[in-house]
Amino acid sequence: VAPPKGKPKWLRVKLPTGKKYTQLRGLVDKYDLHTICTSGSCPNMGECWGEGTATFMILGNVCTRSCGFCGVKTGRPENVDWAEPEKVARSIKIMGITHAVITSVDRDDLKDMGSIIWAETVKAIRRMNPTTTLETLIPDFQGIEKHLDRIIAVSPEVVSHNMETVKRLTREVRIQAKYERSLEALNYLKKQGINRTKSGIMLGLGEHEDEVITTLADLRSVNVDVVTIGQYLQPSKKHLPVKEFITPDQFKKYEDIGLEMGFRHVESGALVRSSYKAHKHIL
Ligand code: SF4
Ligand code: SF4
Repeated sequence: VAPPKGKPKWLRVKLPTGKKYTQLRGLVDKYDLHTICTSGSCPNMGECWGEGTATFMILGNVCTRSCGFCGVKTGRPENVDWAEPEKVARSIKIMGITHAVITSVDRDDLKDMGSIIWAETVKAIRRMNPTTTLETLIPDFQGIEKHLDRIIAVSPEVVSHNMETVKRLTREVRIQAKYERSLEALNYLKKQGINRTKSGIMLGLGEHEDEVITTLADLRSVNVDVVTIGQYLQPSKKHLPVKEFITPDQFKKYEDIGLEMGFRHVESGALVRSSYKAHKHIL
C-alpha cells in the first residue's frame, strides 16, 4: 500500500489560544518548567491547560527502550535525580494544575525500574498540591508485581498503561513490550483496587478494524474503565510510517463500539492523545 500523501484536513490544528493558556505559557517559560505538552508541541494545549490539566515526564529524557513510533531518545539514561519528585510537585503548584498526568521513560536499567521515584513523585505532589488529582501513565515494569505495588500503594486516582497498538503489530511497534504482559499489568492494577484503569491505542499503523475491536474487548475483559484512541503521526522519517489516516467517521464508530462494550469513557478522534481530556477520566 502506498503511504498516504499530505495530512487530511481534520489533522490540521489551530495554534493554542485562551487566557489561561497564555498565562501558563508565560509561567512555563519563566520558570523553565518541563511538560510533555510543550516538548511534544501537543495540539491540545489550549484545551487541556484551559481546564487545568498538563502532563509531566519523570526519570529523564532518555529511554532504555526503542519503540518504533516514539520520538523519545533511546540510549543510556541519566542518573536518577532524587530531587525530581519535588521539582515536579513545584511545577504543578506554580502552574496551578488541578489534574496532573505523570508519565516516564522506561528504566529497565534500574533495579526498581524507576518505581521508587514514581511513588515518591506521587507523594510529593500530594504534599504540595493536596487537591490536585493524578493520573499515572506507567510503563509495564516488566509485569513485576512488587514494582506495580509501589504505584498501587500511593493510589493515584487513575492508573494508565498504553497498549499502543493491536496484538499483531506489538512486536513491530514496541519491540521490548508484550501485548499479554501489558494486559496482565492492567488486570493486576484493577484487582488490587485501583479505582480507574485506563489504556490507549494509536491507529494508522496498518491495523484492521476487527483487530482494533478485539483489542477493545481484551481491555474490557480485564475491566479497564477508560480507553483513548488517536491517530499515529510519524515523529521523524526514521520512525514507522503512517499507513493510513483514519477518518472521523471511523473514530466515531470505535467510540460507539467502546461505549457499547461498557467503557466508562472512550476518547476517540484523530487528535486524541493519551492524556487528552484526562481530567474527566477520574469521574
Ligand atoms: Fe498535554 Fe496531554 Fe493535553 Fe497534550 S493531550 S496538551 S500532552 S495533557
Ligand atoms: Fe517511548 Fe515509552 Fe517506548 Fe520508551 S517505552 S521508547 S518512552 S513509548
